[in-house]
Amino acid sequence: MAFFNNFVEKAKSAGKKVGDKTTQTVEVSKLKYKKGDLDNKIKAKYYEIGKSVFEKYKEGTVIDSDIADACGEIIKYEAEIADLEKEINKAKGGKTCPSCKKFVDAQFAFCPYCQTALEDETEAAAVDVDVTIDEAPSTESEAEGSEGEAQ
Ligand SMILES: [Zn+2]
Repeated sequence: MAFFNNFVEKAKSAGKKVGDKTTQTVEVSKLKYKKGDLDNKIKAKYYEIGKSVFEKYKEGTVIDSDIADACGEIIKYEAEIADLEKEINKAKGGKTCPSCKKFVDAQFAFCPYCQTALEDETEAAAVDVDVTIDEAPSTESEAEGSEGEAQ
């Protein structure tokens, strides 16, 4: 019986050890989860702080030059993102509303989300070139539209 008792004790202590390990692991992951949660809360606060500073920068509030540099970089990245979104929408066969930045089907003349007039980008570019190169602006003579024949 001594052998059996010894065996039972060994098994018990082995079980206890395993149990301890399990409890430990659960406890560690609980604590890690709490720590991760706090880490995320800090990151969210960092983001909030950064965003409020960035808003001040955009409003023209004078801030430290290193912060201003960082804000300038954000502006640059935002412009790049906007360009990429335009490219993505173009690749998807549509266009980007210049006002609300949403994807709009290529055939729409007005944005269905915000009713902004949509221009075809290639046509708009061509019109710009025509306007700058053609005749000098004579006041309110648009309706005539004849290029020098009337004079
Ligand atoms: Zn829109």
